[in-house]
Amino acid sequence: MTLSVDDVRKVSLPSDQDASGRTLGDEEIAVVTKALRSGTLTSTKGHFTRDFEERFARLMGVRHAHAVSSGTAAIHAAIASIDPEPGDEIVTTPITDMGALTPILYQGAIPVFADVDPKTGNVTAQTISERLSDRTRAIIVTHLFGNPCHMTEILELAERHGLPVIEDCAQAFEARHRGRKVGTFGDVSCFSLQQGKHITTGEGGVVISDKEALARRVYLFLNKAWGYGDPNPDHYFLALNYRLSELQGAVALAQLDKLETVARRRRYLADQLTHRLQGVDGIDPPRVSPGDECSWWKYALRVDPQSVPGGAVGLAQRLQRWGIASAPRYIQKPAFRCRVFRDQVTFGRSRWPFTLARPEAVDYSAERFPGTFDYLEHVLVLPFNERYTETHLDQLAEAVRQARRL
Ligand SMILES: *Cc1c(COP(=O)(O)O)cnc(C)c1O
Repeated sequence: MTLSVDDVRKVSLPSDQDASGRTLGDEEIAVVTKALRSGTLTSTKGHFTRDFEERFARLMGVRHAHAVSSGTAAIHAAIASIDPEPGDEIVTTPITDMGALTPILYQGAIPVFADVDPKTGNVTAQTISERLSDRTRAIIVTHLFGNPCHMTEILELAERHGLPVIEDCAQAFEARHRGRKVGTFGDVSCFSLQQGKHITTGEGGVVISDKEALARRVYLFLNKAWGYGDPNPDHYFLALNYRLSELQGAVALAQLDKLETVARRRRYLADQLTHRLQGVDGIDPPRVSPGDECSWWKYALRVDPQSVPGGAVGLAQRLQRWGIASAPRYIQKPAFRCRVFRDQVTFGRSRWPFTLARPEAVDYSAERFPGTFDYLEHVLVLPFNERYTETHLDQLAEAVRQARRL
């Protein structure tokens, strides 16, 4: 099938930023109306958020789930549950959302960036192990675009060193590593319900855990550490209010019913797109390990600048002419090149907690991150949505095919 530029321009792709690419509908309206009419909008008294937590825990096959006000809050609560000492190091990835990183600093710990696999953008047991020190207190992994990290090897490494693992599954709802859902490997795992994620409440998040003590600390942390229901409740430690409201909890409940359908549809569409892009010179579809299942938050191509003029940036510019908004470099630069890390801009002029860091922990020299720079230079992130039709896939694939030439 050959489409002209004009054909491609005719249909715009469903977007996750508005109703065209979201599954928000009558079900959400009905349940949010119930929440409103109940007159109870705080999750400390209502039941919608609690119902969502119970059902999310059941879906994931874990004992505890706590809804929170954002994915960033989820990460913050997960780190607080581990309770690092100031200056402790947490090994993480430089290719992730900033909301997965700044909570580390708020808890007084030092994010230590591991390099990534240049083919997937994910950290590996090998790249993590290169950053471990006697100050390491935990490991955080991000399943980038929903492509699972090699959790088997990463857990082996973590167990060998007695380190807890936090999984950032914000982009990885229903993804699986060797048949097992991601989010069930780590000691604590985090999800986001932000506008652009698989299911959404606008802003929101979830923390899950099977570990009683960690789940208890998560619960306390998002409730100002107030011991609700205890015989002698008190504010036990430094903590915030990170609760989800009942309005959001109600929407989350209706959205959860749709998650498995959304995930299945994304898998089907991604397979179809991969099929359509097979053999296009200089374009490498995403690499998912055999036996794993990606959640396809986005569809990240690797572009070979030897055969595609201008590489990922050139391809993105030409796709723009077709009305397709893609993102070369994904986050533009590794997190450690952002000012908060580069200039250590934190609390006043103190630079705390960076002042506690070993020099090597904050050594961001490019030669220590070959995989990171390689990945960002070649990646082109295509928008992706469960509402795509076969026609949208035809248009996307044909646009990529034609835009790969000048
Ligand atoms: C979206 C996202 C976050 C942050 O979630 P918010 O809800 O936006 O705070 C964290 N990590 C990853 C990998 C994300 O994609």
